[in-house]
Amino acid sequence: MNKPIIELRDIYYCYPDSEWELSLSGLAIMPGEVVGIIGPNGSGKSTLLRIAAGVLSPIKGDVYLAGSDLKQMDRRTIARYMGYLPQELISVYDYTVEDIVRMGRYPYIKGFGAFKEPDQRAVIRSLERTDLTEFKHRRLSSLSGGEKKRVFLASVLAQEPDILLLDEPTSALDIHRQVYFFRLLRELASDGLGIGVVTHDLNMASLFSDRLILLLEGKCFRSGTPGEVLDSSVLKKVYGDGLLLNKHPESHRPAVLPRIGPEKSS
Ligand code: ADP
Ligand code: MG
Repeated sequence: MNKPIIELRDIYYCYPDSEWELSLSGLAIMPGEVVGIIGPNGSGKSTLLRIAAGVLSPIKGDVYLAGSDLKQMDRRTIARYMGYLPQELISVYDYTVEDIVRMGRYPYIKGFGAFKEPDQRAVIRSLERTDLTEFKHRRLSSLSGGEKKRVFLASVLAQEPDILLLDEPTSALDIHRQVYFFRLLRELASDGLGIGVVTHDLNMASLFSDRLILLLEGKCFRSGTPGEVLDSSVLKKVYGDGLLLNKHPESHRPAVLPRIGPEKSS
């Protein structure tokens, strides 16, 4: 039996001086699985991901990464198992694309140790997978928001992690780049990676996730397959009555469209 790569148990968190609370009985991500984390603004998606990534410590509950308690693991060990992309990506220095991707290898380099052949191979492979080889000498400041996101994805891929936790990775991307990105996530999952991806795009989540977790006001409102989670009563309760539920013509998974408005009676 496969074991989860990451498991959150009985999590409770609140920010200092805030009444907002996150409480979640459990969440596990298995190897080869894409889990979409959805929910309206402020529902706790980023907070949940920060806790899973060990950036925030839960007030109650535990996170296990590859079977070990995250609290007991140092950052380098965590980074060998987990690649985490926060929602806001900032780099203080104007590095080149290749520099940023090389930084993904830091969990494997000891002290002032040299970059070795496997490190170089991982960098080349990550640049290729994210279609960035031709960009490798470009500086971050010369790239669009979407291209920067790809660079940071390439950097976490160079970590060769078992799990990726990605917070709104496609928010600055054109629609065709979003599709390309989510297809890449599926490809990575078929290589055995577990993926937890936060997105506010219900259609991408529906089409490319094996399972969805829908958060509302800091709690899991519904979880299951896209078909189980995205039903019309759930959509109405969480997002109001401005959405129309349809089926994707190829996959028959739920597809969400905006409603124009109530029909006027003559
Ligand atoms: P989402 O990613 O779903 O939009 P977040 O997890 O960012 O939601 O935020 C959940 C709630 O926690 C929101 O009400 C937000 O205002 C609040 N929050 C987020 N970050 C902080 C913080 N650093 N300090 C206090 N409150 C925060
Ligand atoms: Mg967020």
